[in-house]
Amino acid sequence: RDLSVKKPEWLRQRAAQGDRYSELKESLGALKLHTVCEEARCPNIGECWNGGSGDGAHGIGTATIMLLGDTCTRGCRFCAVATSRNPAPPDPLEPENTAKAIASWGVGYIVLTSVDRDDMPDGGSGHFARTVRTLKELKPEILVECLVSDFRGDPEAVTTVATCGLDVFAHNIETVKRLQRIVRDPRAGYEQSLGVLKLAKASKDGLITKSSIMLGLGEKDDEIKQALDDLKAAGVDIVTFGQYLQPTPVHLTVKEYITPEKFDFWKEYGESVVGFRYVASGPLVRSSYRAGEFFVESMIR
Ligand code: SF4
Ligand code: SF4
Repeated sequence: RDLSVKKPEWLRQRAAQGDRYSELKESLGALKLHTVCEEARCPNIGECWNGGSGDGAHGIGTATIMLLGDTCTRGCRFCAVATSRNPAPPDPLEPENTAKAIASWGVGYIVLTSVDRDDMPDGGSGHFARTVRTLKELKPEILVECLVSDFRGDPEAVTTVATCGLDVFAHNIETVKRLQRIVRDPRAGYEQSLGVLKLAKASKDGLITKSSIMLGLGEKDDEIKQALDDLKAAGVDIVTFGQYLQPTPVHLTVKEYITPEKFDFWKEYGESVVGFRYVASGPLVRSSYRAGEFFVESMIR
């Protein structure tokens, strides 16, 4: 472990608080709904669940739910999720039960995500689509984002999710082109991910697409600019930037802690120079960070 790169002060975790947060936390207990926000002890939970940093400007609370189990068929070098070639089969009742629980909870914007399921013929795409359809039937006003795998580039799986009635299709390229092989599982790839985003965009008129890049893995500014141009060319609307943090000592080391000012630069650059609808950028920003508010903001722009 490279101890020469010390964690800077701006990454200090904030305590979760806020009225809405407390309410949501309390009502969650009875629902048997497991949020990534709680399980990953995400430092943004107060802001996301409250739907703002306290000023209540938009008020759409965001939470993330993981589908398809907790064991991934891939092994990316930045990710601490457990890996197996043969994970347990998914719970066939999960789509309906999860949709019911989300619908009776109080959050306005839900991100559904999952591990990669290369063992399933459809990569789990049908499972996502059923969850979204049931949820939208039960609570049409809820906004749904699916943050999905590349489905090995399978067009049918991508289209199944992109046309299931979701509001935002998200797939992360994670890093710049040069670092793909070092950072991501070898089954993932830059062109494949761009292809998935492009196909999703083409599958449905007006669909909003989104992607995320981690910074601090040794990428150069020119490489980030190239990635942004490539995402723009793939039709992507929303981009997020966050600091990569090493989850355990066996994972990739942090090459650099990017300053908050540099994150601001990327937001400005992405919105004003490249022309994305919205860029969320900051040390603790994660793909789903305050996604509900940012979605609403990007739609009224
Ligand atoms: Fe939950 Fe994502 Fe927000 Fe973290 S960033 S609290 S995981 S919605
Ligand atoms: Fe983690 Fe996703 Fe990679 Fe699986 S595919 S190891 S869940 S980042």
